[in-house]
Amino acid sequence: MELSDSSKKKVGTTASDMINLVNRAVEIVGDNSALAFEIVQGRRTQAQQNRLYAQGRTRPGKVVTWTRNSKHLGGTAVDFAAKKNGRISWDVKLYPPIAAVFRQASEELGIGIVWGGEWRKKDFGHIQLDAKRNGRSEAAVIAPDVKVPFYGVLKKGSKGALVSDVQKMLRDAGNSPGPIDADFGPRTDLAVRSYQRKKRGLAVDGKVGPLTFAKLSREKKKQGRNV
Ligand SMILES: [Zn+2]
Repeated sequence: MELSDSSKKKVGTTASDMINLVNRAVEIVGDNSALAFEIVQGRRTQAQQNRLYAQGRTRPGKVVTWTRNSKHLGGTAVDFAAKKNGRISWDVKLYPPIAAVFRQASEELGIGIVWGGEWRKKDFGHIQLDAKRNGRSEAAVIAPDVKVPFYGVLKKGSKGALVSDVQKMLRDAGNSPGPIDADFGPRTDLAVRSYQRKKRGLAVDGKVGPLTFAKLSREKKKQGRNV
């Protein structure tokens, strides 16, 4: 599957951990159309939240939120919507398997999450980061220090600003890719492979997909360095 441009835009407003999580979830879904989803909400402004809160209370419509203080405000939550035959579907049966995909991505990446489907007041399409399970402060989770764009895979021959970001992260993780030159050459390939060899759960293929990218970007965070 590939997210729509609208979904990508919404994910792009959230914290880097959330972006990494969604990227990996998309990768896990792959071509399994039974698990296809879109992202229908990312970060909200307080004004948007207040307006949503008013719906079904002081404004017409159905109540859609229980709080004025949502994780969407901090950019640490997304709402996903299941897709059936290429269209958004609110059939609740479709949601737990997609939530399981997010759970798998969460475990692989060590990014703690909470799914709204587990709440007493069910919110089947809601995923939020769980700062406590992440073992980091909420502030650290929110700070989007790396903007993760959407891409397939970076590999030998790839060029561009994102390659430079990856090269800096490799360098900071102790695997020198040679000069930071936005050009994914043989030295960068070797650096990626030696990084992957050190990390459990990564295939040693010299390619930077969502999983390797997410691990690399968190590596840098742990060491508290800035790109
Ligand atoms: Zn939500």
